[in-house]
Amino acid sequence: MTDCIFCRIVSGQIPCAKVYEDDHVLAFLDINPLMPGHTLLIPKKHVETLFEMTPQEAAACGAALQKVAAAVFKGTDAEGMNILQNNYEISGQEIFHVHFHLMPRKSGDGFKVPWPAKKYGPGEMEAVLEKILQAF
Ligand code: AMP
Ligand code: ZN
Repeated sequence: MTDCIFCRIVSGQIPCAKVYEDDHVLAFLDINPLMPGHTLLIPKKHVETLFEMTPQEAAACGAALQKVAAAVFKGTDAEGMNILQNNYEISGQEIFHVHFHLMPRKSGDGFKVPWPAKKYGPGEMEAVLEKILQAF
């Protein structure tokens, strides 16, 4: 897609700080990092969200994700790592080409993932589980 910024990075029209590349996947440093080494991993093929990927495309990303995450973790002397993948605007997706954020973590980095955990009301857990199981 010519109007997609990540497709332009894949085609070389826009430069990137390349971390990893194989036949299906590209990884590069995020231009506005949350911390040094914040990396984006994308499929080379334009796909908007995780849900439009084939199992093979998702598997290629998954395999590369583990490899790239290990290198980013080691190369940044990280103590931990968050991996985030946003789908659709409501989740914070701004670029509609699938991408995984790899965020190496260190104590005192000031980054906090909001985690406002809730409790299920009576029957709610069973009801949502039933709906998810019906959706396969
Ligand atoms: P999201 O909000 O999940 O869609 O994240 C999009 C990410 O892409 C943001 O973290 C941006 O900083 C990053 N980004 C946008 N343009 C570029 C670019 N040209 N090179 C590297 N990262 C980019
Ligand atoms: Zn694209």
